[in-house]
Amino acid sequence: MAVEQTLSIIKPDATRRNLTGKINARLEDAGLRIVAQKRLHLTRGQAEQFYEVHKERPFYNDLVEFMMSGPVVVQVLEGEDAVALNRKVMGETNPANAAEGTIRKDFAESIEANSVHGSDSAENAAKEIQFFFSRTEIVG
Ligand code: ADP
Ligand code: MG
Repeated sequence: MAVEQTLSIIKPDATRRNLTGKINARLEDAGLRIVAQKRLHLTRGQAEQFYEVHKERPFYNDLVEFMMSGPVVVQVLEGEDAVALNRKVMGETNPANAAEGTIRKDFAESIEANSVHGSDSAENAAKEIQFFFSRTEIVG
């Protein structure tokens, strides 16, 4: 294990319900440090590019619309094994399959409106962090 960084997004379903603080507490209680954070409204271009890997999936267009439907909070999380740890704290993509005590189990509305994004590998984390943050915005 090593200290890693990962990209997290608090999605529009969660900002709409004023859950930013509750979700941040879950992340911090798990040992992740929020070393960068900003609230923004994704443009169509940003949402399309961020989820480009899913372009051929049937849910892509709806996902892009959903991610533009309200503000998001993008953040860089740092900690031991941060990529895998954040995925564990988030829970499965479909809240119906998510373990007890995970963010998605407790807060997600649906498989689409599932409250949080987390990078799925160290390689993607590096790309996703760069997509939203400059180096000077990340303060460890
Ligand atoms: P994860 O966010 O757990 O890494 P994926 O990368 O597979 O999941 O999917 C990206 C996002 O697309 C999900 O978080 C969810 O918002 C949406 N999504 C995934 N699968 C579906 C689906 N079957 N129907 C609707 N939306 C979906
Ligand atoms: Mg994913």
